[in-house]
Amino acid sequence: MTEQNAIANYLKYSGNKSIDLAVALIDCDGVLYDSMKNHTRAWVKLMQKNGIKCTRDEFYLLEGMTGAEIIKMKFKQGAGKILTDDEARALYGVKTRYFHELGEAAIIPGIKDVLTQLKNAGIERVLVTGSMQPTILERIDRDFGELLGQHRVTGNDVRRGKPHPEPYLKGMAKAGVAARQCIVIENAPLGVQAGHAAGCFTIGVTTGPIPEKELYRAGADLVYPNMSALESALPSLFESFKTTTA
Ligand code: MG
Repeated sequence: MTEQNAIANYLKYSGNKSIDLAVALIDCDGVLYDSMKNHTRAWVKLMQKNGIKCTRDEFYLLEGMTGAEIIKMKFKQGAGKILTDDEARALYGVKTRYFHELGEAAIIPGIKDVLTQLKNAGIERVLVTGSMQPTILERIDRDFGELLGQHRVTGNDVRRGKPHPEPYLKGMAKAGVAARQCIVIENAPLGVQAGHAAGCFTIGVTTGPIPEKELYRAGADLVYPNMSALESALPSLFESFKTTTA
């Protein structure tokens, strides 16, 4: 899909007259960090220790839900157990420990350049993640500093994780903008669904094993094969946002 076609298509189905880009809502896992390999490994370990059958692939597809939501769902489906919030939180603590034992995930190549271009273009960058891990949030400060703005949405801010639009709606509210002023940058189908449901022009980037067509199926307006491809496309994309109107 060309950029202009994708924008024209978005304007048509959303009923917006134009995209006046002011804010980029940025996912964390698989967008800032190449962390999904370690997350999926940690999830499988937690489930195996608790006698719950699973495959690693399914956790790539659950990416975006909060940790507590995933735990409650898997324990119900796999063991018939209804967990309390406290039990889910304790198990999330165990999963977090397994995750940290796997070491620090690398920064996704090209993401700093994407954030720099957004910053230089005067577009505010707002983090929107389901993560609640203080160590990850501290690491984001250390690695990205002012490449990300002051507004953040974490798993602590929302009741319902992705694919519910709440995380992205919260991000828009914190930045004080409407959907037609935002883009969402996501790597996972449930995250793309959330961005789309929030009414934003949603850009998918395939940074893991999930194929491009899954992101389009989830509602992505445009999909790039990697972050460097998005980086190269940004100048013309900015121009297309300005010049494509309904
Ligand atoms: Mg992600």
